[in-house]
Amino acid sequence: MWSLSRWVLTLVLGVEAATLVVLATTTHLDQVTTRSWIWFGLLSTAAVIHLEAARGIERIREIAADGTPYTHMQSVWFFAGVLLLPLPLITALILISFSHEWWRVFRGRAVVYRKVYSACTVVLGCGAAVLALGAFYPGAGQPYAAVVDGPLGLAAVLVAGLLYRLVNYALIVTAIVVTNPDRPARTALGHPSDQLIIAASIGLGHAVTTVVVERPWSMPLLLVTVLALHLGLLLPQFRTAARTDGKTGLVDATFWNDVAVRELDRARRLSSSLGVLLVDLDHFKHINDRYGHLAGDEVLKAVATALRQVVRGHDLVGRFGGEEFAVLLPGVDTGAAEAAAERVRATISVLTVRVVDRSGSPQTIAGLTCSVGAAVYPETAKELSPLLLAADEALYQAKNTGRDRTRVALVPDTRRPSD
Ligand code: GH3
Ligand code: MG
Ligand code: MG
Repeated sequence: MWSLSRWVLTLVLGVEAATLVVLATTTHLDQVTTRSWIWFGLLSTAAVIHLEAARGIERIREIAADGTPYTHMQSVWFFAGVLLLPLPLITALILISFSHEWWRVFRGRAVVYRKVYSACTVVLGCGAAVLALGAFYPGAGQPYAAVVDGPLGLAAVLVAGLLYRLVNYALIVTAIVVTNPDRPARTALGHPSDQLIIAASIGLGHAVTTVVVERPWSMPLLLVTVLALHLGLLLPQFRTAARTDGKTGLVDATFWNDVAVRELDRARRLSSSLGVLLVDLDHFKHINDRYGHLAGDEVLKAVATALRQVVRGHDLVGRFGGEEFAVLLPGVDTGAAEAAAERVRATISVLTVRVVDRSGSPQTIAGLTCSVGAAVYPETAKELSPLLLAADEALYQAKNTGRDRTRVALVPDTRRPSD
């Protein structure tokens, strides 16, 4: 963080200081009652279940949103908090959601100061929204959900929702513009559909408060609604972002490359590492020749499924070409990449696939083998192309030395001239 330009540093520290000031000056305003603790418990449980169910999509969406604001539907719970809870409890709710996201969606692989900044902008947005509610209903205090009613209530919720969004959005857009001065400012605004996602979240957040106050047992129904809408609204965006290969369901080479470029950037920012594996099935042509192409396709599907199962949830398996696969291993060093390559090789060697051969009779294909080439940032190479070339070279070595084995790319600097 201290390597940031003066402008960015001023903005980040300013927003964090403002958040602390707002919290310190408003803590005494609303009493934290037993009821607010119960509501807080309900909202944070819902937020955690929601994010847990959507985390696969959210990871890809966040990677795809690089350089634009990343919007998600956790605002449902935050805005419900605005209408129900004292600001310290809203802040705790935001902290829980962001920590959960940090742990489960990013697995600790995100820039800390950016996430802290984002959380602060949400707290400030909530603070502004609560202020607006206070202006409409002076002296009422939390829970505003109990008093917002009639046309005045509608106006109050609209103004609060607008302020919640505006404060948060303006601060995020400003941060993106000052951190990426060479990119066109328009990209920092994000996609117009993001505004719809937030509008839906604010509307649902308001509905949640009515349910929580009057019919708490209907909460699970509303949670299902939020989840269904989340998946329904954002799955298409996810599918376009992740171009998948029709045969195996894995991401295709172009998308894998896009993600690899971003993960490499991230590894660089975090001074972390990144492993890549190239996996090529041995003598796959023989399978096609012996059992037919359809059987070969079944084998490719089975291999794809096995690869996905043998790597961690946040590793990315892509189909690179015919019977060639690529695996991206964020945060992995040379030793761990070698171990992962060996796990992949061992898994494929025990795979059995039931197929129907050319003549229509069922067959079981076993004894498949593959060769794996591995390379690791920063040891092997600092850029993606040389990293992939090195992994490809290692794969070639594995093929040339007898197949059914794994090879890790040599570290260029340790290669002696006599080698
Ligand atoms: P090596 O051990 O040297 O990798 O031998 P190989 O036979 O696997 O290598 P080669 O690259 O020469 O052949 C790959 C074969 O994979 C050729 C092609 O028929 C087959 N193939 C590529 N894509 C598909 C596919 O989508 N379905 C099926 N069934 N076969 C495919
Ligand atoms: Mg092959
Ligand atoms: Mg091949």
